[in-house]
Amino acid sequence: MKGQTPSVFNKDWWSGKIMEFSMKDEAFKVEMFRFVDVFPTLRNHVEVARHLQEYFCRPDTNFPAAFQWGLNKVKPDSMVAKMAAGQIEKQMAGMAQKFIAGTTAADAISALKKIWKSDLAFTLDLLGESTVSELEALDYAKRYDEILDTLIAQTKSFPAKPLLEDASWGAVPRVNVSVKVSSLYSQIDPIDPKGSIDSLKNRLRPLFRKARDNGAFINLDMEHYEFKDLTIELFKSLLTEPEFAGFADAGIAIQAYLRDAEADVQGLANWAKERGTPITVRLIKGAYWDFETIHSEQEAWRNPVWSKKWETDACFERCTKILLENHKHVRLACASHNVRSLAYALATAEELGLPKNAIEFQMLYGMAEPMKLALVKMGYRVREYVPIGEMIPGMAYLVRRLLENTSNESWLRQTYADGLSMEKLLAKPAPPQGHEQSTGVEHIKPLNSMGFRNAPLLNFALTNNRESFERAMQEVTRGFDKTWPLVIGGSEIKTDRVIKSINPSKRDQIVGTVCVATLEHAQKAIEAAQNASASWADLPGEERAAYLMKLADVMMRRRKELASIMVYEVGKNWREADADVCEAIDFCRYYALEMAKLSQPQRLGHVAGELNLLFYQPRGIAAVIAPWNFPLAILCGMTVAAAVAGNTVIMKPAEQSSVIAAHLMDACREAGFPPGVINFLPGYGEEVGDLLVRHKDVDLIAFTGSMQVGLHILKVAGDVADGQANVKKVVCEMGGKNAIIVDSDADLDEAVKGVIGSAFGFQGQKCSACSRVIVLESAYEEFKTRLVEATRSLEVGPSTDPAFAIGPVVDEDARQKIEGYIELGKKENSLLVQARVPEGLNGNFVGPAVFENVPADGRLAQEEIFGPVLAMFKVKDFDEALKLANSTRFALTGGVYSRSPLNLERTRKEFKVGNLYINRKCTGALVFRHPFGGFKMSGTGTKAGGPDYLLNFMEPRAISENTMRRGFAPEV
Ligand code: NAD
Repeated sequence: MKGQTPSVFNKDWWSGKIMEFSMKDEAFKVEMFRFVDVFPTLRNHVEVARHLQEYFCRPDTNFPAAFQWGLNKVKPDSMVAKMAAGQIEKQMAGMAQKFIAGTTAADAISALKKIWKSDLAFTLDLLGESTVSELEALDYAKRYDEILDTLIAQTKSFPAKPLLEDASWGAVPRVNVSVKVSSLYSQIDPIDPKGSIDSLKNRLRPLFRKARDNGAFINLDMEHYEFKDLTIELFKSLLTEPEFAGFADAGIAIQAYLRDAEADVQGLANWAKERGTPITVRLIKGAYWDFETIHSEQEAWRNPVWSKKWETDACFERCTKILLENHKHVRLACASHNVRSLAYALATAEELGLPKNAIEFQMLYGMAEPMKLALVKMGYRVREYVPIGEMIPGMAYLVRRLLENTSNESWLRQTYADGLSMEKLLAKPAPPQGHEQSTGVEHIKPLNSMGFRNAPLLNFALTNNRESFERAMQEVTRGFDKTWPLVIGGSEIKTDRVIKSINPSKRDQIVGTVCVATLEHAQKAIEAAQNASASWADLPGEERAAYLMKLADVMMRRRKELASIMVYEVGKNWREADADVCEAIDFCRYYALEMAKLSQPQRLGHVAGELNLLFYQPRGIAAVIAPWNFPLAILCGMTVAAAVAGNTVIMKPAEQSSVIAAHLMDACREAGFPPGVINFLPGYGEEVGDLLVRHKDVDLIAFTGSMQVGLHILKVAGDVADGQANVKKVVCEMGGKNAIIVDSDADLDEAVKGVIGSAFGFQGQKCSACSRVIVLESAYEEFKTRLVEATRSLEVGPSTDPAFAIGPVVDEDARQKIEGYIELGKKENSLLVQARVPEGLNGNFVGPAVFENVPADGRLAQEEIFGPVLAMFKVKDFDEALKLANSTRFALTGGVYSRSPLNLERTRKEFKVGNLYINRKCTGALVFRHPFGGFKMSGTGTKAGGPDYLLNFMEPRAISENTMRRGFAPEV
């Protein structure tokens, strides 16, 4: 290999220069790769020039003149800009061609012929956008089929090459195709492995049959960790079917950067032995290291990948050994650009006495040419991994390759750019002195100085979690015959009047019965709260906080039980229900920590002879009136905020979610709150709710719910009753009519997925849900087609079954109200699509619907529907998008998908909402990280889960003392 340089590092070449500078300047690298990523969505020269300017000519960047492309201070639509943009476009296309062989298999044939001629085999990989709909999935299946057809027909005339076609076990197919399973089924989800595998097998069988009957090879690629187990299961399940049981030309990729890799290769080897027909394992390092690391850190999950490069390299060698030792059952395709890893495979194979053609090496098209050449010369079979595909996915692939080549730890970079010594490059992978093997949990650290960290959501890609959740789902049904009492002053009170809570997925199933409080009970509850008030308020803040910590622990222990109840009672799917419990736990822990801080008096103005202290006192008695849509989190959050601040509380849950509320009361009792501190008063809003709001002895109302009720409460609470001591404080969180803007340069893969998740997650019944999507004209048609098909692909069914992304709406009233809006939309606007609700379901199901041609002042554009109904708007420019986004009475959440730094800057300033989300969905706020709440008619500006929230539950007091007596003051 000595004396040769791979083409990407060739300095003469345009990209060589870019690479060189990227390695020197991290800021440039970020802008450059972001520009490459956005480039294919730019629809004309002006757009290209504008983005180049925004990325490279900003005042805060300091890139050399050569990388400002001559665009500094010229207009994007000028002739100069046009020419510069044209040049760049040409260069970019050239750069992509180095790594991508063509758009289709037919296009790539001449490249494949060349590859074959230079004594290299190939496998074709289809680059593509993420599959967001079944239409797209079917199209992928068709394209894979075409690739097989083209290769089978076209490679017949390729000359025979024993080096590439003879292995120790017999013939090696010329045709070799790599398949990404996530492209073949849009609803693939590890929470439902069986459903996902069944659907994928239906798509894969015809391809496998064609391969089997025509002597072709199919490899399943490995993608993100969440699909890993599912992909392995799919592979095994398909190849166990009688028609494929004897098929040996099938392979699967295993990523050595995963901590699971060794166990997985051993598992595959054992399984292949049992099957009796060998398989191939393509051993790779893995392409999504950054994603997996960041994602697991965000979720506070154990990092599935090794955190140190040497660990991956060492794991690669261990896996190589296992595979070679089992070569009769698993054939190794060793895919790496690291000479040490390749050398290890060679040496181990030699040691085991294997012939050269018993193993295969694989490397990427356009990279590491000297290595390929050297191995071929040594008489080994080398296969190039050759991507084909369109520009947009092509550029994303190019970014990955560029990142790989410029990474500090890239073997290629170290060898060809950094010139590390061979001794170092070939050293056995080992920790630097004093370093230990990582455990994957190092990154799970507190997020603030108080030690707060959000409770990690359950990772449903893990079998354990799915199985234990399933068990909890069964176990909780045993408690459905229970009647839940009121709890006042620690005593249970049963009433004759009850609410029977019904499973919205299955209307004949009662989830529990809850007693209904009368006005007398409300009076009693207020008295109980008054009796408990003084001693509770007198406790030091830290002691009250300790109860919240206990409550968090109780809920953590019972998390699956609590989540399961929500699945049954309000129709949340498993993930949403689990997130609701985690949010409740987060509220407890976060407010407890905040209270510990707030309970210390603050000294203000250090002036000699004067002591000024600011501190907080509780307001008194709090009525907590909650909605059903976050039945545990919001009820719990408002309750514990009030309680930790020293108030005593009367919880009035929403009628529809009284059972989960009763479970919360139960958990509070288990946590040991003194009697009367938290009282449970289920019942009707217009009855007990109204009484609580009006009652002279209620000092604080914490309300979350609809605008109509919220405004009514604000009004009523403003009336002062006879004998009322305090002005009532109302914490009031109301509805939204939230918009997401999709810019002309948005990543549509992300935007479609984000809008679907935001609009239809929990059937659109979130105050944060997106109900308007505002799309720039030039992206409108493409976005619309993909969104409509993605909506059509959604599967509607009982929320108890994780196979369905879309469950029921909460009750029959809600269903009728939403259907009313859909009928109105059909009359006044244009219905683009409504997802199908299967026949024979016995629940309150509404198929998600998308409308267009909705006037800006139309009801579908202005009113909160609180269901899976989305209105699409086409706008000519970003000004109009912002104006429309801000045009409702509400200001809760908003989102924007854009890759224009300037438009993002404008959005930050001009999109007036309580919670703005950039390039992500607009739902799913997390405690502390995304303090939640809106203004205008969305709320009174309090932020649940944020640092100011508790202050709403307290009154500030200040004491100023003159500490000087007779000219003497203590020193402080
Ligand atoms: P809702 O307004 O119908 O009911 C909320 C609560 O108010 C219930 O407990 C209900 O019993 C009670 N209530 C009703 N009438 C009352 C009255 N006259 N006096 C006192 N209490 C009364 O809302 P919902 O259907 O339960 O929840 C959905 C609404 O909540 C949506 O509008 C949604 O946007 C909003 N929401 C807002 C947020 C936020 O943080 N901004 C969060 C969740 C839900």
